[in-house]
Amino acid sequence: MRPDLELVKKYNVPGPRYTSYPPATKFTDAVTWDQVLAKIEENNRTPRDLSVYVHIPFCETLCWFCGCTTVITHNHDKGRDYVECLEREIATMSARLHPSRRVVQVHLGGGSPTFLRPDELRRLGGILHEHFDFSPDVEASVEVDPRRLTRDHLVALREVGFNRASMGVQDLDPAVQEAIHRIQPREMTQQAMDWMRELGYGSINIDLIYGLPHQTPASMERTVDAILEMDPDRVAVFSYAHVPWIKPAQKILEDKTLPSPESKLEVFLLVIEKLTADDRYVYVGMDHFAKPTDELAVAQRDKRLQRNFQGYSTRAGSDIYAFGMSGVSQVSDAYWQNEKELSKYQAAVDSGRVPLQKAYLVTPDDKIRREVIMRTMCDLSLDFAAMSRALGIDFERQFAKELRSLEPLERDGLVVRTPAGLEVTDTGRLFIRNIAMCFDATLAPVDERRHSRTI
Ligand code: SF4
Repeated sequence: MRPDLELVKKYNVPGPRYTSYPPATKFTDAVTWDQVLAKIEENNRTPRDLSVYVHIPFCETLCWFCGCTTVITHNHDKGRDYVECLEREIATMSARLHPSRRVVQVHLGGGSPTFLRPDELRRLGGILHEHFDFSPDVEASVEVDPRRLTRDHLVALREVGFNRASMGVQDLDPAVQEAIHRIQPREMTQQAMDWMRELGYGSINIDLIYGLPHQTPASMERTVDAILEMDPDRVAVFSYAHVPWIKPAQKILEDKTLPSPESKLEVFLLVIEKLTADDRYVYVGMDHFAKPTDELAVAQRDKRLQRNFQGYSTRAGSDIYAFGMSGVSQVSDAYWQNEKELSKYQAAVDSGRVPLQKAYLVTPDDKIRREVIMRTMCDLSLDFAAMSRALGIDFERQFAKELRSLEPLERDGLVVRTPAGLEVTDTGRLFIRNIAMCFDATLAPVDERRHSRTI
């Protein structure tokens, strides 16, 4: 798979990442908490599985490429106060939920969850176990920052049931690290990896980013070689999204040498080739690579993969309850997002209010499109008869216009029509967001979209 540059230029347009459908840009403050609550109560009549997300926003320093919702501080007491706030929020929400609902997935994201002290992580784990019933095979993952990680952090997290970990590396080249304000020598990453292995963490993931200043195919090749030696179970390779109108600190990077689109693509193609050589990793889609034996790759082969706010997931059919500032929750008929500013989030929880910032009520048409987009992105194929049965529609008739809009993509070799329906080609995996966009009824014209570019 090596698409030519013209193809990439043609399809490299702003587009959603489809961690939800409709995308979060459609959430609005016009939806009230009472409306959301009605959907929660309706959904809560059956004991569906739960996926819990907890956002820990703190980091000691800002990486200049960062697109996350963060609070930069050296004051670790803020973490202690935040855990208290989380306890109130979790207690209030969990009391509303059907008592037999089980947590099958937990994710601690950020920011940097390991900004919390080991005892605060134990306390947070205790709070979650006190208010939720965990499935014995729960998938409990945490994002760690190797720069401030101690073995004690990982021990504390294991004690409260965490069994997966993901760490940001981005690039191992010292010049790139200096340019992005994130110094993380290889030995530090290796140390974190050794501790995780020793303590029994599985499905260990490493995040890389392409499109950073001073990055070249040669420098990235060295980084990927080093990562391959570390042998993680999963690798996520994100495109640097330059959105300085949302993240002003990214303007600093404009003074550095950002790679040209050609060089950026060259770097990504090189990463794909190196990771997938000898079938070492499967290109699951978008930014994700997994060893063929990792459950992400296995679930894709079995057509059990899902997509949610945490990216690709093997825990199908669970509702997401998110806690902490900016967390996004999802039940079948609604999405809702917490306040994105720490002071507003804490003030709401302290005064006994729900920290709701905005929400979206899902329509019947959204649900159908959500399933079509999810199956396309996860299975890399669409079986029209299966979709008709699952959705209770005549798929080809209802989506005739959308299927016609895929014809240029078919001519460009991104999808092929099969007797059963549609298959995404190897080249098409790179453009999976563009393929999914053909089924999106909410997309604004290209020049009005506030999404990152698809490649
Ligand atoms: S550690 Fe992660 S969340 Fe924190 S500033 Fe760096 S990239 Fe952003």
